[in-house]
Amino acid sequence: MVNIDRSNCAIGAGIFESIFSKHFESEVLVDEMKCVAKGDDHCLFNIKKVGKKTATSPKSTIEII
Ligand SMILES: [Zn+2]
Repeated sequence: MVNIDRSNCAIGAGIFESIFSKHFESEVLVDEMKCVAKGDDHCLFNIKKVGKKTATSPKSTIEII
């Protein structure tokens, strides 16, 4: 990916949001914690289930190297 000094993975985040909202059958929040476009050596997405059963929300982390 090209280094443009800001997060460049909105499309990826949208794809993860779609996949994991189906997987959890709930809304999810997708935060990109690290991004190659910001100078990190890989992209790191934090996916958090929101909505029902928030007290026991599972979290998933995806790293793209
Ligand atoms: Zn990224």
